[in-house]
Amino acid sequence: MEYNQFKSMEKRDLHVHLNGAIPKENIIKFIKEQNIVIPDGFNLNTNLQIKNPVSSLREYFLPWEVLKLLPRDYDTLCNMVEKAIEKLVSDNINYVEFRNSPFYISKLNNIPLNEAVSWLVNALLDNSIKFNIDARLILSLTRHELNDGQGIELLKAIKASNRYNVIVGVDMSGDEDVFVPKEINKFFLKAKEEYGLNITIHAGETGNFENIKWAISECNADRIGHGSAAKFSEYTLNLIKERDVCLEVCLYSNLMSGNCADLYEHPIRTFLEWDIPFVLCTDNPSVHGKLLSEEYLLFLKYFDRLDVINDMEIRTEKYSFG
Ligand SMILES: [Zn+2]
Repeated sequence: MEYNQFKSMEKRDLHVHLNGAIPKENIIKFIKEQNIVIPDGFNLNTNLQIKNPVSSLREYFLPWEVLKLLPRDYDTLCNMVEKAIEKLVSDNINYVEFRNSPFYISKLNNIPLNEAVSWLVNALLDNSIKFNIDARLILSLTRHELNDGQGIELLKAIKASNRYNVIVGVDMSGDEDVFVPKEINKFFLKAKEEYGLNITIHAGETGNFENIKWAISECNADRIGHGSAAKFSEYTLNLIKERDVCLEVCLYSNLMSGNCADLYEHPIRTFLEWDIPFVLCTDNPSVHGKLLSEEYLLFLKYFDRLDVINDMEIRTEKYSFG
């Protein structure tokens, strides 16, 4: 099957970070228009994308040193969302769940968190109509930036701002080697039980399968971001299967972040053997310069399972939160 055939398929992407989906040339334009001072030594031409494998997640997060300096007003946020959606629509994506952590938008603009969340919801609604795409939002806590009370604050902001059910879930992302208080599970349980939100958590992206077990058993996760480390634990693989938890697999991201040196050895091989539910996603398409069609093509090249690609529309619909 050729790239153009994948491109012409209608697709759903369930794991995309909003900031990682905005094309590089648009980021540079926004930075220049707003006279934003970037960190010393940051090269806008080379450091906004990761096109070769790095050696740690921390290194992989380098583009966010600049991505997090935007937006400085609502119109810029709306334009950022527009450019991200335009790119996805060019690849025939008709449903997307964008992830974002709204705390930095609140800080950058000196506005309450619920207003920052409203900005995101409104920007998504406006552009969904314009591009005829169903765009939803998953709001994330960041492991290495967690503060007391953040979870409750986020849930209150969601309740105040969730027009037309644009916000469909909550997540936790960031450096998995950072200590996270285990009681944060109460945030996820409350989000699900009291607010009717779905749960996905970045877990086992690096080598720690305990994070996957914790996310499923203690936080009631419906999906897991990456979940690569599950291959090291039969107990975890069984747990994923028993609970019908879907893994969001992002091949280019795992290559670029240095978590997988050789795709032939990627844990997806184990997931296929165990018949573990997974969907293919992009994570940060503009950071890698790769669209979902290219993820499908890469999967086919290494694993030769066209039946899985053909099943992707059904899978992504079954496990989507919207
Ligand atoms: Zn991610």
